Amino acid sequence: MNLKEKIREIENFPKEGISFKDITTLLKDGDYFRYAVDSIVNNLKDKNIDVVVGPEARGFLLGAPVAYAMGAGFVPVRKPGKLPGETEAFSYDLEYGVDTLEMHKDAIEPGMNVAIVDDLLATGGTTKAVAKLIEKLGGKVVAVEYLIELEFLEAKEQKLSDYEVRSLIKY
Ligand code: AMP
Repeated sequence: MNLKEKIREIENFPKEGISFKDITTLLKDGDYFRYAVDSIVNNLKDKNIDVVVGPEARGFLLGAPVAYAMGAGFVPVRKPGKLPGETEAFSYDLEYGVDTLEMHKDAIEPGMNVAIVDDLLATGGTTKAVAKLIEKLGGKVVAVEYLIELEFLEAKEQKLSDYEVRSLIKY
């Protein structure tokens, strides 16, 4: 099954110069959606994953079904002010300014095996922040899985060399 042909590329969205990879065209096709989720699940088998962590918002769309299929838990990472319980935060640099992500403090127990699942790897900034947050709470990031990777940005080499990173579709 060629997953790439189901990704819609929209030029200059959300701003000039960005080629946006739209996954909704894949998600709406039941066979392709299942195939994508099953492929990630297959990559994670034998890794004893306790919880899947998915960043808001597209990480929810893939992370939750992956967790469900494995019988693992799902933990959301959100923008500040969205989670109701006590949170741990991690701030990271963007091209201009900083961004912050939050996770519930009690979401990860020390020693847990954690997989990060997200839609797309671009610069790796988001994933790096999520990984740091998991580690701050005592979890072990045993795998990072994406639907799409923008290989030309070299995030795997430059930001995520400490982690086992895989993607299903490459640009
Ligand atoms: P980054 O932190 O740079 O790896 O990018 C984080 C998030 O930004 C990804 O998980 C995507 O949701 C979104 N993103 C970045 N670049 C693109 C793109 N070209 N098309 C679609 N989403 C993108």
